[in-house]
Amino acid sequence: MGTIEWILVTIVALGFFISLFQGKKRKIKTSKYKRKTNSKNMIHRASSKCRSDEVILNSRLNDLSGAEFERLLALYFRDQGYIVKEVGVGGNDGGVDLVIIDKRGEKTAVQAKCYSDGNNVGVPIVRELVGAKRNHDCILSLLVTTSDLTLQAKKEAEQFKVDYWHGAIVEQKLKAWGKWKPVKKRNSQTKSAVNEILQSRLEAAATRTVICQCGSPMVKRKNNKTGEGFWGCSKYPNCKKTKPI
Ligand SMILES: [Zn+2]
Repeated sequence: MGTIEWILVTIVALGFFISLFQGKKRKIKTSKYKRKTNSKNMIHRASSKCRSDEVILNSRLNDLSGAEFERLLALYFRDQGYIVKEVGVGGNDGGVDLVIIDKRGEKTAVQAKCYSDGNNVGVPIVRELVGAKRNHDCILSLLVTTSDLTLQAKKEAEQFKVDYWHGAIVEQKLKAWGKWKPVKKRNSQTKSAVNEILQSRLEAAATRTVICQCGSPMVKRKNNKTGEGFWGCSKYPNCKKTKPI
């Protein structure tokens, strides 16, 4: 090889190494950036989403945010005599929200899922908890949800010895505890009942049906024996009122 070729090879090699070095630098930068935004999000979520303990203790489970549900459980377990570490404040949990330590020093990793009814906890959540409990030095694990687990998730939980509480059990335990007193929204309930009656009246008017004394629309029925038609209450058999057509 001549000197020119040697120079060319050196330039190419140098260029290669420089690009490698810069690539590394960029990677380090992005990972640093990611970490920063993550921790920012964590603080932000924890501070904005979690209302005071008093509000949380007077709220129904459906009205709590994820962070507030975690907080409620932390208060509950503390009163049951556990040492509670809130490890995943406000969503940045990595599979574990609380670590609870009983009097013998046994640690349980707790994952809390505040889901609305019908949104059941699936298999990935169970697996996440199984994987993450070791990071927190826990042997036992407990999944607590306001809804329920899917059938598949239950099987998975039993296989990996993950204890779980579904919504009904959670409510039962919290009620037995005595400090959780959810305020029932009576006003909105009566309002919605009134709305329902108005709605059914409007619907009846739109289709020109007859309204029963109980407020429900009446439907056309036929007397089996005589074959004669009559108006019968749509709430039959709860309401047995009829009207001739
Ligand atoms: Zn009626």
